[in-house]
Amino acid sequence: MSVTGRTTLCVLLGYPVTHSASPRMQNAAFRSLGLDWVYVPWGVRPDALARAVEALKAIENFGGGNVTIPHKEAALGVLNALSPEAAAIGAVNTIVPRGGTLVGHNTDGTGFLSAVREEAGEEPRGRRVGLVGTGGGARAVAYALGQAETAELGIFSRNQDRAESLRRHMVELFPNLEVLALGLQDISADRLRRLDILINATPVGMQAADPPLFDYKALSDHTLVVDLIYRPSETPLLRLARARGCRTLNGAGMLLHQGAQALELWTGRKAPVSIMRQALAEELEGA
Ligand code: NAP
Repeated sequence: MSVTGRTTLCVLLGYPVTHSASPRMQNAAFRSLGLDWVYVPWGVRPDALARAVEALKAIENFGGGNVTIPHKEAALGVLNALSPEAAAIGAVNTIVPRGGTLVGHNTDGTGFLSAVREEAGEEPRGRRVGLVGTGGGARAVAYALGQAETAELGIFSRNQDRAESLRRHMVELFPNLEVLALGLQDISADRLRRLDILINATPVGMQAADPPLFDYKALSDHTLVVDLIYRPSETPLLRLARARGCRTLNGAGMLLHQGAQALELWTGRKAPVSIMRQALAEELEGA
């Protein structure tokens, strides 16, 4: 990759950013599109986010950015405007410069939907879905499922108050969606049997020693099991689901499609998804 005086700069704001797979994926896409653009990770401590964003407002060759942990919610307050999705989800993962201002978007939810449709061949419309977790990832997924006209959404959390608060938010946004707020202890074989899709939106499974969220052996084989985690590529939840005969999908597809959609917002070009998929796979496999 060569950087010239005309290079357009994209950045990833996060802390830490050292393990991010996005630079390799986005730079492969820019090369494939013949764009003189570069994507650079910026490690920004939480107390420095506002100053980092102010700097971006001053850079004329700033092409766009991504926002990752721990800044997705704080970014809401330091940008000039928000897309309807970012405002409804309450988090930003993509920054788009427009006429000297910075607009916050959220492609996590739409990236999730594209992954479920294109990588797993499943259509969430009319489905019964179980979602474990109530954090930023879960809120983006819940919003996307509402947009996709999912029939029923069960939100499972270790924190009943957070599950109830997300339930109320979803019912306000999507009056036709049936939403339940439940505890992890409510995940029984009977409940699991009702689910067409089950999604883990917690970090549980990133470490091999993590205690399971529920008894994974109680999963039904007709359920598509999705884990937002992509490292490791197969969590204990996905491994046991596969052993039960379930179709499974890890978080790499969501990472791919949220990145492809961010690139399209920045450049106005169609994302080279297969090139990005390959670059991401090489990065995640450590090649
Ligand atoms: P977050 O905002 O910190 O939320 C984490 C959620 O997990 C919270 O609801 C938290 O519950 C719950 N949780 C944490 N530890 C738990 C445990 N031991 N048992 C039960 N629940 C637990 O994080 P996030 O940004 O939503 O990310 C969640 C996961 O999704 C991470 O693994 C992240 O890497 C992944 N993710 C992937 C993508 C992708 O593109 N593939 C995108 C976004 C997120 P409390 O509220 O009770 O603490």
